[in-house]
Amino acid sequence: MQFEVVIGLEVHVQLNTKTKMFCSCPTSFAQEQNKNTCPTCLGLPGALPVINEEAVKKAMMFGWAVEATINEKSIFNRKNYFYPDLPKGYQISQFEIPIVENGHLFIDKEDGSKRRIGITRAHLEEDAGKNIHEGDISKVDLNRAGTPLLEIVSEPDLRSSEEAVQYLKKLHAIVRYLDISDANMQEGSFRCDANVSIRPKGEEKLYTRVEIKNLNSFRFIQRAIDYEVQRHIEAWEDGLYEEEVVQETRLFDTQKGVTRSMRGKEESADYRYFPDPDLPPLVIPDHFFEETKNIPELPDQKRDRFIEEYGIKPYDAALIAGSKETAQFFEEMMRTGVEAKNAVTWLTVELAARLNKAGLDITQSPVDSAKLAKLVQRIEDKTISGKAAKDVLDYLMEHDIDVDEAIEKLGLKQISDASALEPLIDEILAANADKVEQYKAGKEKLFGFFVGQVMKASQGKADPKLVNELLRKKLS
Ligand code: ADP
Ligand code: MG
Ligand code: ZN
Repeated sequence: MQFEVVIGLEVHVQLNTKTKMFCSCPTSFAQEQNKNTCPTCLGLPGALPVINEEAVKKAMMFGWAVEATINEKSIFNRKNYFYPDLPKGYQISQFEIPIVENGHLFIDKEDGSKRRIGITRAHLEEDAGKNIHEGDISKVDLNRAGTPLLEIVSEPDLRSSEEAVQYLKKLHAIVRYLDISDANMQEGSFRCDANVSIRPKGEEKLYTRVEIKNLNSFRFIQRAIDYEVQRHIEAWEDGLYEEEVVQETRLFDTQKGVTRSMRGKEESADYRYFPDPDLPPLVIPDHFFEETKNIPELPDQKRDRFIEEYGIKPYDAALIAGSKETAQFFEEMMRTGVEAKNAVTWLTVELAARLNKAGLDITQSPVDSAKLAKLVQRIEDKTISGKAAKDVLDYLMEHDIDVDEAIEKLGLKQISDASALEPLIDEILAANADKVEQYKAGKEKLFGFFVGQVMKASQGKADPKLVNELLRKKLS
């Protein structure tokens, strides 16, 4: 039996507003527990929530970015459940009428094609606090309680764990470009729940799904989904699908690489949603639409512009535009006048590999855009060879030193001056007179031998192109 994988993702994005969703407590990090709290986010009786305008505008910007409907009127509901980090006994969220509906984005497939993924809705809600367990004691820290979240729900349009990751990366890039969230996955400001099911290929109906909670890295998301899909397929093939695949919430054990049942899945009826009587419907004033619609350039537009403006390959353009910081780094390099092709290679291959090895991201790169551009310039103006430039880059990763100084220090300056190379070449040819004879008699593949000898004699510093030219002249 052939199966099709069906995945829908729910992503919680922590909005980077100055204050909380329904009170004026700061959202900034506080060392001291329960410092950023007030009667409203502590859930004290009688305290009233007030909607944060900045959060509304940021949700609207997201709506524009995914070409969604932005509902002029939306409703805040109470989602009732009990948990110690939720002192009110309910979370304020949106249910039937969210602020954003019916959007989409495109994921880029490996083969260069695109696929449209529907975004069912995006709604505003508040985060809960945190339970802290210290030995025998458990405490509740409400610093995070009331922080604004945008929950973005996709249609079950994703067909593999790779597509799920491509979707998340695109979403991540969009919110970063919009600057509505720092979207730091480790710190939990971009969290994902994955809904996963399988169905026999060709069928339209949706089968039983499980929800895997709180996945906080792209790698874990992919592994958790792969594990779950495999579990469903095996259950089906063993005739145990009905028993083993039930609608439930599961957790991914990152150590063992398996998912485990956490609890039965609640139905929305379990939450007794009802409109929050303390909050009137959110009616967005006209001027908010005006103020939010001019959103910054998004990853897809940037990719298209890179292809158009710099003539780089679609794959490279998508890779660079996929990260705001990488795109910025690249554009800074381009402003120095280096060739696009070289900037791409030195950024996405050479620097990227070194950063990856050092466990750094582009914002932590010891080599900034100006330095990398200068290194590329030194290749372009033939001061150094491409090969030598790799050694220079290695050195620059470790030492805070100017590019030219590094070249000097490493003694890697290329010999691209004919008058300096000619004596060297003459020497080689004289020492290999027999081979010169053979070459002239037609053994043309000896040419490579001469090049190699000259390169060796120059300790790799000769400009290979010039060596070729001079040798051809002398041997003809
Ligand atoms: P709930 O409100 O219970 O979380 P939703 O209907 O809002 O459920 O769906 C939540 C997510 O689950 C959405 O991203 C949706 O695309 C996805 N989803 C729903 N049914 C399935 C299914 N059978 N297989 C995979 N994903 C699904
Ligand atoms: Mg849900
Ligand atoms: Zn507060």
